[in-house]
Amino acid sequence: KVPVITIDGPTASGKGTVAQQVADALGFHYLDSGALYRLTALASLKIGIDENDVDTLVELAQDIHIVFREGCVRLDGEDVSLDIRAESVGNRASAIAVHGALRQALIARQRAFRVPPGLVADGRDMGTVIFPDASLKVFLTASVEARADRRYKQLIEKGFSAKLDDLSRDLRARDDRDSQRAAAPLKPADDALTLDTSNLDVDQTVQTVVGWFRE
Ligand code: C5P
Repeated sequence: KVPVITIDGPTASGKGTVAQQVADALGFHYLDSGALYRLTALASLKIGIDENDVDTLVELAQDIHIVFREGCVRLDGEDVSLDIRAESVGNRASAIAVHGALRQALIARQRAFRVPPGLVADGRDMGTVIFPDASLKVFLTASVEARADRRYKQLIEKGFSAKLDDLSRDLRARDDRDSQRAAAPLKPADDALTLDTSNLDVDQTVQTVVGWFRE
């Protein structure tokens, strides 16, 4: 079986950066599952459908054409790498991710990333639902303050405007919604190793995860 490392955790816990670098270190493929929810969210905003119109969301999730290449994401041919990072899109992604039918519709797309020599997958339910047989499951956490601070820097770097207070509030709201929803709530898999990154930099976190995988 092709090895998989799952890295789950709350918003802005550093999963994305860490997962990408672990994948680079091992020569593995990388799945940013949140991007699939964000792409569906962006597509739904573009065509103006309601966040609770589940049937149309499911159709959209199945029909949109998605390409990940060299750090860029294309939606139906258009480079939307930056657009999907907007907070408005993240909030819409979290709102539509509560729908079990939509989550179902995205399962096959996610599992298709499992190809040799291996995969590092980041998200909320990678270890619990999508890859329950993963070789290593990591659950990344960090304090709300540390996460709001990271998200702030990320957004400013990308040229978005941001306010720390608003970000902390949004993070808490998204954490609550992600962990309290009935469909695949955010929680560590029973066999996950938890790593608090509040006081770790990216390098230290990557080294820890790679070390666990090689053990
Ligand atoms: O990880 P990211 O912030 O890009 O994800 C955006 C939203 O998509 C999350 O707030 C979460 O609600 C949803 N999501 C999910 N399951 C995943 C990945 C993301 O529900 N595996």
